[in-house]
Amino acid sequence: MSAVTKVYIDFDGTITRGDVGNAFFRTFGGEVCDRLVAEYRSEKISAQDLFLGEANAVGNLDIGAWKEFIAKQEIDPTFPEFVAYCRERMFDVTIVSDGLDLYIQPILDRHGVGDVQCMSNRCTLVGPEMKLVLSFPYANAECDRCACCKRNIMLTQSAENDVLVYIGEGYSDRCPAGYADVVFAKDILQTYCQAENISYHPYLSFRDIRRALEQLLLRGHLRKAYRAEVRRREAFIREA
Ligand SMILES: [Mg+2]
Repeated sequence: MSAVTKVYIDFDGTITRGDVGNAFFRTFGGEVCDRLVAEYRSEKISAQDLFLGEANAVGNLDIGAWKEFIAKQEIDPTFPEFVAYCRERMFDVTIVSDGLDLYIQPILDRHGVGDVQCMSNRCTLVGPEMKLVLSFPYANAECDRCACCKRNIMLTQSAENDVLVYIGEGYSDRCPAGYADVVFAKDILQTYCQAENISYHPYLSFRDIRRALEQLLLRGHLRKAYRAEVRRREAFIREA
């Protein structure tokens, strides 16, 4: 099987300007959500418990306010052209998010990129009272720090020859970055990569990433990284 370049992209703070998930729960769930986040950060509760608690705090969603909230969310304006570029180059693009499809899908749709594959936690609005019902199809039984295990998605979706690119910025990007051949990092993820000696490319926008990928291609450097390959193999052995 020939090698495929697979590009995995975080959503909140990477594709969008801000953390939409946090803003959503703060807007609709109130201060209880801050307390829940603090409990999660100090490892008193799991990521799934955090989401369930936050959804409970939201209660019934006001659909008018919800639509207004979605309309206000901005994305990196160079993201749609980046998706087009990846398709031209035959790179596989997957959004991996420890957020909710409830807000991811309408934001992608609004910017004309709603057909990009996205793997995240799921949330549907049920009944006339619009109650949030959550499910976690990509949970990892071995680790409760994320509700959606980006690392396992990358491992199970990739063949041995594939080159894995990871683009992110935050807490849930730290683990998967260690398993990717080429990492694009900003903010917290950049600090983490420095501390862990993971080589990365800094970026501010998807246009920067496109330019860097072009350079890597030109120099023949868009290829597997030994350290990431070893870690992927070790993870597979552990899971087997
Ligand atoms: Mg993020």
